[in-house]
Amino acid sequence: MKQQTLAIIKPDGVARKLIGPVITRIENEGLDIKAMKLIKMTKEQAQGFYKVHKGKPFFDSLTDFMSSGPCVVMVLEGDDAIARYRKLMGATDYRKAEEGTIRREYATDIEKNVVHGSDSPESAAFEIGYFFNALEIM
Ligand code: UDP
Ligand code: MG
Repeated sequence: MKQQTLAIIKPDGVARKLIGPVITRIENEGLDIKAMKLIKMTKEQAQGFYKVHKGKPFFDSLTDFMSSGPCVVMVLEGDDAIARYRKLMGATDYRKAEEGTIRREYATDIEKNVVHGSDSPESAAFEIGYFFNALEIM
């Protein structure tokens, strides 16, 4: 079944010129890019985006990082897009990520792990709506 997911190239990925390599992997996986923009979140916007993690020990540092520079936000579409993009990203901790995944190849830190992807249909709906309105999605 066709599904949409929200993908982000995080500030470390943009700063390290990894927009091209990440998008190449997304395209090679056969996922369609339905919306895309470069944005810089405020601290408050990053806190709102990651509200599910409020109260966790990494929340303050994560939201500082996510508001530290520009990100690329994208809506990806395809059959089983949420799980396929999560698999392409690899585990949160790059040291545990499978060989060949984006995080295994490029991440340098559990926090600075280059990419974000929604983890469920519910989070995808919230996250897509956080950055895009209906007119911006092809
Ligand atoms: N994170 C962190 N320390 C942790 C767990 C997570 O800095 O112990 C950061 C990391 O950038 C991660 C984000 O918080 O991508 C959101 O965590 P989540 O558990 O949702 O991981 P993800 O869904 O991104 O794999
Ligand atoms: Mg997550």
